[in-house]
Amino acid sequence: MLDVLVIAPHPDDAELGMGGAICNFLAAGKRVGILDLTSGEPTPHGSLEIRARETAAATKILGVEWRENLGLPNRSVEPTLEARAKLAGVIRRTKPRWLFAPYWVDAHPDHVAATELIEAARFWAKLSKTDMPGEPHHPQRVFYYYCVHLRVVAQPAFVLDITPYWEKKLASISAYESQFITGRSTESPTALDRLRDQAAYWGWSIGTKYGEPFALREAHGVTGFDEVI
Ligand SMILES: [Zn+2]
Repeated sequence: MLDVLVIAPHPDDAELGMGGAICNFLAAGKRVGILDLTSGEPTPHGSLEIRARETAAATKILGVEWRENLGLPNRSVEPTLEARAKLAGVIRRTKPRWLFAPYWVDAHPDHVAATELIEAARFWAKLSKTDMPGEPHHPQRVFYYYCVHLRVVAQPAFVLDITPYWEKKLASISAYESQFITGRSTESPTALDRLRDQAAYWGWSIGTKYGEPFALREAHGVTGFDEVI
């Protein structure tokens, strides 16, 4: 049973998009799981073994205790009925209150397909009288994190202060050496420098050091203004 299920097209997307939020949830005692849809391979400097090792290291750095891989084909993610049933099965098994999906506009077809698949699987997970395993379950909310292959400025619904967790987030991303360090330019700004700049920009937007943006398709409900910074 999970409170939060972060669904990522590829290993490293969860860390990139919401490593800070994951740390924030864990610090609050929430049970957080990450479901990677694919292996993320092939990539220029990776292999299945390297990527699995890096994913395990990143997971450990964040302190996440539940992480699985749905085994969909990398580069060919499609929101098929078969994939929908498979993902709905995980949602019914883990019963998260909140789902996190990639932002719906992206240049990477796997990301766009993942969002569509997640939304459909969320709906299917609540169905009764099906041959899907487990009990019907409907996650209350879907939030969208930004891990977008488009150089555009996001228009988020809200920004989370991740100042206390930035270094841990960066360490978890750095664990994916084959993706962010090997073969990359060492000249400033490096790929990791760029990520810090982005986190600092979002922090600036809310008056903190580092931030992480999130989008919503529905209105964000609050019970008061105490949480607003
Ligand atoms: Zn990705």
